[in-house]
Amino acid sequence: MTVNSLIESDRAHWIHPVSSWHDHEQRGVTVLRSGKGVYLTDIEGNELLDGFAGLWCVNVGYGHDSIVEAAAEQMRRLAYATGYFSFGSEPAILLAQKLADRAPGDLKHVYFGLGGSDAVDSAIRLIRYYYNITGRPAKKHMIALERGYHGSSSTGAGLTGLPAFHLHFDAPAPMQHHIAPPYPYRSDAASDVELIARSVADLRAKVEELGAENVAAFFAEPVIGSGGVIVPPKGWLSAMQATCRELDILFVVDEVITGFGRTGPLFACEHEGVTPDFMTVAKGLTAGYAPMGAMFMSDRIYRAIADRSAGQPIGHGQTYSGHPVSAAVALEVLRLYEEGGLLANSQAVGAYFGERLKTLLDHPLVGDVRSLGLLAGVELVTSKTAKTRPDAALNLPGHLARIGYDNKVIFRAFGDGIVGFAPPLCITRDETDLLI
Ligand code: PLP
Repeated sequence: MTVNSLIESDRAHWIHPVSSWHDHEQRGVTVLRSGKGVYLTDIEGNELLDGFAGLWCVNVGYGHDSIVEAAAEQMRRLAYATGYFSFGSEPAILLAQKLADRAPGDLKHVYFGLGGSDAVDSAIRLIRYYYNITGRPAKKHMIALERGYHGSSSTGAGLTGLPAFHLHFDAPAPMQHHIAPPYPYRSDAASDVELIARSVADLRAKVEELGAENVAAFFAEPVIGSGGVIVPPKGWLSAMQATCRELDILFVVDEVITGFGRTGPLFACEHEGVTPDFMTVAKGLTAGYAPMGAMFMSDRIYRAIADRSAGQPIGHGQTYSGHPVSAAVALEVLRLYEEGGLLANSQAVGAYFGERLKTLLDHPLVGDVRSLGLLAGVELVTSKTAKTRPDAALNLPGHLARIGYDNKVIFRAFGDGIVGFAPPLCITRDETDLLI
């Protein structure tokens, strides 16, 4: 197929995720063909530095033969094994073991799915199941953060606090609520301590309004990703956990972006020694080489459900839960993070990248830069004193993406003038210099 006919076919047939179908029909797409390390090559031969690891997922970088071999070997030996009907497979079992060994605290039980959205959905369904089976069926309401993103499944999208995910889809599902995010740059709090106290007070007020006896859980990303890479002050996550414990609601941490070295340690919860009741992951779990997500559950909750389930299957599952090829990929990816030195590189280069990013603050349009490890956001404003967001009519994301492409770099430009960076963890200092 020629480049033009490929682009025509795409325009005619592929419904792309989170895109304007109208604009897509006008513009078409950039067709990516190959990748090596932090570089992608498009179908016209342009080499692009991928400052966004695909969609914050290709944490190990592109073109790892050892992952290809692990997948091929597993496909040859056993392409599929169900997790239903008391079956399992070696890679899925081994992966569950290794993840449980590394997860915070007593998150010892892992449910595998296909990505982040269904990991969040699994958490929602099983939290409701837990309260029903333990005799507190009124505890159904869920609270999340405005600007948070928890996927676009029909239930989980309700937790997503981004207007674009609700426009013309109706308001969020019932019994899902939002409180203000901890957004240091846009808050008038006098200090980090005050900002954290405000979040705690907001959560308390929402729980009081709904009645603690009706509230199931609070969901949060350790760093808000798709909502503009908002890094809360240190101490925020542990304060929210303590508040959830005190209010007797479950604390769910969504590490779909932050997991697997993106912010430095394997899981962002480790920055503050936090152990949630549930934790969701995807993306870096397989580094984008195969689809897979996972939901971790604390031993306490698992036992409460397991002990009441004699003779009664728990009706939650997917054909591809614990897919052996994805699991084999994840095992090799985990080896690369640890033995391959990628976590160590993320920590070293992440610190350097964070320092270099601060130099952008001298730019007249840069209002804020924030980062944790290799996850960073740069907020553009048209007035630094008034912190004025660029006019939406300017279509800044579209222009910035084009400028990036013309300069052979890829990053994410969000609608309200925020630029996001999440390069593969194998990036070198020189490559971050290029990105900056
Ligand atoms: N949760 C978070 C924090 C995410 O960033 C995402 C996706 O970006 C999801 C959930 C949904 O994951 P997926 O796109 O794999 O369904």
